[in-house]
Amino acid sequence: MSNKEAGKSAQDPLADTHELIAPEIPRGIDRRSFLMRSAVGGAAAVMTGCSQTPEQRTAGAAATAKPEAPAAAAPPLAPDLNVVKKGEGPVLTTVDEFYKVGPGPSSSHTIGPMRITYDFYQRATKLPADQLAKATKLQVNLFGSLSATGKGHGTERAALAGLIGNEPATVDPKFLDGLRDKPDQVFPVKLGSKSIDVSLKDVIYDATKGDFKHPNTMTVKLLAGNDVLLEQEYYSVGGGFIEWKGYTPPKKNPPKYPFRTMKELRTHADTNKTTIGKIILANEMSITGKSEAEVYAWVDKVINAMVATVKSGLSMPEDDVLPGPIKLHSKAATVYKRAMDDKFQSDRGIGVLSAFALAASEENGRGHLVITAPTGGSAGVMPALVYGLLEVRKVDRQKVREGMLAAAAVGYLCKHHATLSAAEGGCQAEIGVASSMAAALTATVFDAESHVVENAAESALEHHLGMTCDPVAGYVQVPCIERCAFGAVKAWTAYAIASNEIASRHRVDFDATVTALAETAKDMNSKYKETSEAGLAQSVTLC
Ligand code: SF4
Repeated sequence: MSNKEAGKSAQDPLADTHELIAPEIPRGIDRRSFLMRSAVGGAAAVMTGCSQTPEQRTAGAAATAKPEAPAAAAPPLAPDLNVVKKGEGPVLTTVDEFYKVGPGPSSSHTIGPMRITYDFYQRATKLPADQLAKATKLQVNLFGSLSATGKGHGTERAALAGLIGNEPATVDPKFLDGLRDKPDQVFPVKLGSKSIDVSLKDVIYDATKGDFKHPNTMTVKLLAGNDVLLEQEYYSVGGGFIEWKGYTPPKKNPPKYPFRTMKELRTHADTNKTTIGKIILANEMSITGKSEAEVYAWVDKVINAMVATVKSGLSMPEDDVLPGPIKLHSKAATVYKRAMDDKFQSDRGIGVLSAFALAASEENGRGHLVITAPTGGSAGVMPALVYGLLEVRKVDRQKVREGMLAAAAVGYLCKHHATLSAAEGGCQAEIGVASSMAAALTATVFDAESHVVENAAESALEHHLGMTCDPVAGYVQVPCIERCAFGAVKAWTAYAIASNEIASRHRVDFDATVTALAETAKDMNSKYKETSEAGLAQSVTLC
């Protein structure tokens, strides 16, 4: 301690609180309780002039602190789920599976359940006519996280919409708004010669805890009185992807450049003197049989939809109030206008990028159409960079197309070895992955070499590790909307650092960070996995 600091400490014994807190927390002791006792003990020692060493304070605090509460281990995922087994072979995900257009606010709690009930409806239509003639009722039961936070995600409306034949990419969000405003509406579902009336009452919020194969489990049944004509158990496994009991993934053609890791992917790019984006393009063509023009046509649709969500969000009135009990006022338009007036160019850049992310994320909060990149909750991050690069920087669209493919590769790898589901891994799996993807997009657009693309993606992911999911009131608004803005800015920062360092000196590789993401997801207390049982969801009081 310097003389000046020592003097300050003598005048004000509580000036430097570090002195008061014992440095090490013994194992098995509740951290909060220990720190409080240690600090109180230290303060008392200073005020009474009694000199105690940090070690003596540690012993005293440990003797009186509460034992650590055992962490609520998240229930393990069933090993037979494809989402668990998938890490074994080469990556086979394709862009049309990955970037999905659908209504917000959540890919796993809105788009997934709508795809599930639509799938069930299709199966039910194939039952023999004599069985359909007996049918009296359709019923959806939501379990786990789908039940815990489904109300805030509009899960029941999405499930009903799918049951009556709507698909996420084409459903009119106004239809879903109408269900929210008039929840008693009844719809006929035609099954063979039979017509069955369904309403929101047929979607049941069931057990939040249990021995489920996946935290996002639901069942759909076709009943004849008490008899079950058809029943299927489904899982919404993140990013709008779905599985069901007995699911086997569709057979696909082998990729031209098989890879399981970023290291292998980058080796393909470097060996062939090309970019990660072009390797992914070649794989898309070999897996799906599509031409280059067809792959890029899909990518263009996604780019256009992302630009449209930002434009639509920015055009909303400044005082628009988002649906739900939080009564959150939109801020994208205000942040944009004020940022544009900022006299400092750097502040202007951060401000407008944040505004673009807020705009797309607020659209998600409204339940309007968004694009999973990789999820609905994180749907503000990638559009912010796409909009900024295309509409503000006016970069070449072809570069953005390639960037979208490189970003998809980052998402594929996170899906392959970790998770895209907040119910499995918290927000690091959503906004962390989105930020990582956006960093890869940005680096690719600026012609960075493959190692820089990897480093940028790694850095953005690394600095989201451990981030929990605790949406206030179960609505994808707080912290989600602002968090998208932070994810976008971090993506830019990650690119800025990666493009200004010597790539080979970057000490953490992307694959190691994805492993850390997977391990952190497994260890994370289940209260922080989209259950609204902890964190901000508990500490914020709505008036
Ligand atoms: S906190 Fe993150 S993961 Fe959770 S709902 Fe919000 S955006 Fe999604």
